[in-house]
This record gives sequence, C-alpha cells and structure tokens, in this order.
Amino acid sequence: MTVNSSIAERFFEIVSGASDIAIVGHHNPDGDCIGCLTGMNAWIRHIFEGAGKNVSMLVPNAFPDYLKFMPGADSIKIYGSAPGAVEAAISSAELIICMDFNNLARSEGMASHIGKSKAKKVLIDHHPFPEDFADLMISETEVSSASEVAWWLLNAVSALKETDITDDVKTSLYTGMMTDTNNFCNSVFPSTFLMASQIADSAVDREMIQAEIMNSFSEQRMRLMGEVLLNKMHIFSDLKAASIVLDQKTKEGFSYRDGDSEGFVNLPLKIKDVEISALFTQSDGFIKVSLRSKGAVSVNRLSRQYFNGGGHERAAGGRLYDMPIEEAEDYFVKSLRSFLNP
Ligand code: 5GP
Ligand code: MN
Repeated sequence: MTVNSSIAERFFEIVSGASDIAIVGHHNPDGDCIGCLTGMNAWIRHIFEGAGKNVSMLVPNAFPDYLKFMPGADSIKIYGSAPGAVEAAISSAELIICMDFNNLARSEGMASHIGKSKAKKVLIDHHPFPEDFADLMISETEVSSASEVAWWLLNAVSALKETDITDDVKTSLYTGMMTDTNNFCNSVFPSTFLMASQIADSAVDREMIQAEIMNSFSEQRMRLMGEVLLNKMHIFSDLKAASIVLDQKTKEGFSYRDGDSEGFVNLPLKIKDVEISALFTQSDGFIKVSLRSKGAVSVNRLSRQYFNGGGHERAAGGRLYDMPIEEAEDYFVKSLRSFLNP
C-alpha cells in the first residue's frame, strides 16, 4: 500500500495542532493493537520532543504478558483497571487516534466517552467496512495489519517532513505486523515484505522480538495447548471444520492468564482437510468466539451472521451471550451447516 502525500500532510497537521493526544486500541488487545499504540506513541514523542505534548495510550482491558516488552507498553492505561484515569485522558484529549479497529464499539467501555468527545479523530485500520466516525480515515484492507498501515503513513510523513523513524517505532510496528500475519503466514502482501525488509535493514533486534513473541510460553500455557489438542479439539469432517471449547474449569486447571490461548484457533488448520476452525472461550458473562478459515469460506460473514461479531475474511471473532458453554459446539455445527448450505 502507499499513503499519498496529501493524507500524510493532513495527518501531520492534525497531530501538530493537538497538545493532548489519546491513542486508543481495541478490546482484548493483541500484538497489532499494542504495536500500533506503542509505535505511534514513540513516533509522536520523538518528532514533537520538547513541544510539551501530552500523549496517552488507552485500551479497554488487559493485554498478555508477552507483549509487555514493547517500548512504552508499561505506561498503557487500562480502562478495566483504572476507568477514572482513562475517562480523564479521553475528556482532555484534543485528538483521539483509534488504531486497529473499525467501529467504536470495539473500544468497549471507552466507546461512549470517545463518541461524546469533541476531539478530532483519526482512524488507522485494516478491517473491512469501517464505521464513519473519524475526521481522517486511513483504512485499507489489502494490507497485513494496522501496524503496516501506520508504517506506510509514517514513511510518507518522513518523506514529506524529512524526519526519521526511531528503532522504538520500528520494533513496535514490526511486532504488530509479525503477530497479525501469524509470523508471515496470513495476509502477507508484497508491501508487507517490503516493510520487513526496510526494518531488517536497521538496528532493530528481530531475534529478541522473535524470542519474546514465539518462545516465551509459560509451562502451564504449553501444557494447556497439549490438553486442548488432545481432549478439546473436535473435527467435523463433513463440514471440513474443527472446534475447540475452552471452559472455565479447564482454564483454572492450567492457571489461565490473558493471552494464554492466543494462536490456539490456528492449530486445527494444520490438519490437511480442516478449512474452518473455531475456538470458544468461556469468559465473564459471554463466550468469546474466534474463527479462522484457510479456504474460500468467509468467517467475517459467518461471524456477522451467527456470532455477533466481524473481522477479516479469514480471521474473525465475536461473542455468544446467554448460552451455556456446553452448547457452544452444537451451536457452531448447526450454524456452520446452515451457513454452508443456505
Ligand atoms: P481474534 O479471534 O484474534 O480475537 O480476532 C480475529 C479478528 O476478528 C480480529 O481482526 C478482530 O479485530 C476481529 N474480532 C474479534 N472479536 C470481534 C468482535 O467481537 N467483533 C468484531 N466486529 N470483530 C471482532
Ligand atoms: Mn490487526
């Protein structure tokens, strides 16, 4: 993708004109979300150093430990733990930059405060069908991640203003891109490799990033993965589908922490004839749904139709309310059957 110079100019002007800036991410923040936030935070702090800008990073709920190595991640404010501080940051902001989500509801408890705010709003995203809530929308779908969108945006600004992009920014955006592509497996475009190659040609420590993201499981998380594959994954051959149900009891049995099931939904797709995979995780008051496809089936449509959610064609998510966890798998099979044979 490319970002044209008029968009880059407009973005630069908007950021220049705001002295109080909130950068906002989505519910269950993933690597792309945290990468975008810390990358944009580091960029603004570097470019406007000494200008007295107040920048805050806000997310609705906690993010996994393995993302805490990202530069500045320790200063991210979490709405669920400190609603007052987050509301104050939103209400004092003159600019709100929303990253890696396409509708305000994905910012959960923060959504109504952002909606009410008179601040200028910028959206930087890569999901289809973005809601039209921002003054400046930088949203493309033929791109790996919101971190990649941010990379090309900041490159366009750099070309225009002759500024540099620091290693902290690169570390964050590279991590966001790498995690959202599942380590260069999904949604990889020529521009994605170009971004990777440009960052590889810098002092960024890719081995460290790789180790933090790929090889930092706790023993319990690794054993939970074993349990899931052996006892919780069920295959429905006629539908070329598989599902995994992660109930509360199993979570507790393996001392589950936020993010421990990250990537589990991809595992069944390693089986040759499985084309659709679903993970149902029992959560507080709802079942979290993760859907993946490696073929032509659009899990974005499946999610919108049956799971109160959305996402991308091959990676989507949603929620089930008022359903006992024991019924999730049956509901999945029935929904998928109707979806495939309308
Ligand atoms: P994950 O399965 O990793 O939680 O989410 C996969 C994709 O679906 C992500 O791109 C995410 O933005 C999207 N997604 C996850 N949960 C929801 C949801 O509740 N609503 C919508 N609209 N999208 C979701
Ligand atoms: Mn993303």
